[in-house]
Amino acid sequence: MIERTIFDSEHEQFRNSVRKFIEAEIEPHYAQWEKDGQVDREIWRKAGQHGFLVPGTPEEYGGVGADFLYGVVISEELARTGVAAGVGFGLHSDIVVPYIINNGSEQQKEKYLPGCLSGDIVTAVAMTEPCAGSDLQAIQTAAVLDGDEYVINGSKTFISNGQLADLVVVACKTGDGLSLLLVEAGTPGFEKGKNLEKIGMKAQDTSELFFQDCRVPKENLLGEEDMGFIVLMQMLPQERITIAAGIMSTIEITLEQTVNYVKERNAFGRPVAAFQNTQFELADMDAQITAMRVFVDRCLELHTEGKLDNNAASKAKLLTTELLLDVVNRCLQLYGGYGYMWEYPIARAYADSRITTIAGGTSEIMKLIISRELLA
Ligand SMILES: Cc1cc2nc3c(=O)[nH]c(=O)nc-3n(C[C@H](O)[C@H](O)[C@H](O)COP(=O)(O)OP(=O)(O)OC[C@H]3O[C@@H](n4cnc5c(N)ncnc54)[C@H](O)[C@@H]3O)c2cc1C
Repeated sequence: MIERTIFDSEHEQFRNSVRKFIEAEIEPHYAQWEKDGQVDREIWRKAGQHGFLVPGTPEEYGGVGADFLYGVVISEELARTGVAAGVGFGLHSDIVVPYIINNGSEQQKEKYLPGCLSGDIVTAVAMTEPCAGSDLQAIQTAAVLDGDEYVINGSKTFISNGQLADLVVVACKTGDGLSLLLVEAGTPGFEKGKNLEKIGMKAQDTSELFFQDCRVPKENLLGEEDMGFIVLMQMLPQERITIAAGIMSTIEITLEQTVNYVKERNAFGRPVAAFQNTQFELADMDAQITAMRVFVDRCLELHTEGKLDNNAASKAKLLTTELLLDVVNRCLQLYGGYGYMWEYPIARAYADSRITTIAGGTSEIMKLIISRELLA
């Protein structure tokens, strides 16, 4: 193991309290939430009370202005316990609310940030549409200014936190460009569709959203009109490196659990760990994981210095998600039939991990970004 150097003792203390919170408040209920297709709404408020939502919120809006690594600690701990894929805290804290912190008007920040911190407001971001995913330029949902209001028409799909969301950042076409509008749940003309049934991430609500002559005040424009792409682009390095950081924790815990399992499980009169195939599989994965951890930590360090670019963050997202798929597949094989049983964490990890090379930008789109710079 190569020692990690990016966290200080205060981060580690914070990690301990996050871990205790997850063990006490999330893990015991998680299987039920998977059956329900969404988490209990109250867990958001409990996380808010403990300061585990949007730790980077500036003090003037009720936060503590913690550095970015505190959010990483939360992502890592959720991933380590196998529940990250269900509770949508990461999306809220590391992606959606930072859009408001970085681009919101004073009025928007005062109105929404305290609730985002306390867990009274759950957020979502709605970009994807039935006919436009990777190709964001192709979205059809349109917002037209009518007096002091934007009128939104269109539909979105695959929206994480969609059922629970109180506030949605909606990407809309406006004139020639794309704009982001803040839409509150309950606004007339805004309807949530069904909770979509997925292969994994069973406790995460994922929804269609519909907008029919939905009117929002023009003050709900986030950033400038037609400049939505720039707002989204600015956040990409943080989004992608946060995803990568959580994934590294899932990978590491998966390997650790597999090592424990193969030491205990016997076949042909000896532990599965005694077979050379098992040893070589584990060694190969461990070597790759060690190298990847060093790369991801360096990217995290660069981000804390404000120097992480979209190219490096895309490489981190591409490589960690592909490594995750490989590791869960190979580890599950070492469990034999038990690996296919939901009661074993490897089964959940296998199902939950499949989305990671798709959501947040597919592997192909990551390669497109990387190759563009290479060939420029
Ligand atoms: C569980 C889940 C949660 C999600 N959460 C959210 C959310 O909260 N908010 C949100 O807005 N969206 C969300 N998404 C949507 C997600 O971001 C999209 O699914 C993803 O961007 C891919 O878009 P698509 O599904 O339309 O696939 P498509 O864009 O149709 O792609 C299909 C295939 O074509 C490939 N492809 C596309 N373009 C190219 C190209 N130029 N070159 C090579 N290959 C290409 C893709 O990589 C993919 O393999 C979520 C999706 C899922 C499944």
